[in-house]
Amino acid sequence: MELKRLNKFGKAQCACCGYYTIKEIAETCPVCHWEENIFQEENQNDNDAPNYISLREARGNFQKFGAKKLEFKELTREPYSEELEGS
Ligand SMILES: [Zn+2]
Repeated sequence: MELKRLNKFGKAQCACCGYYTIKEIAETCPVCHWEENIFQEENQNDNDAPNYISLREARGNFQKFGAKKLEFKELTREPYSEELEGS
């Protein structure tokens, strides 16, 4: 699997929160707790492993309370400045 486009800090964009937090394939995003995986990102209504919530729903939750699911909220953090932009 190919990692997505990287920003100038060598990080790829998280499919859920949109910040540039991903350094490794299958990494869990520290800002929203989405686990990067190509299957769920191409099938946005799939709610099976590894996230057990669909990308569509996780994005909505991130907008509402800042995590893919409420139970992971305390494991998340604010994005660093180097994670804000894709260029
Ligand atoms: Zn994220």
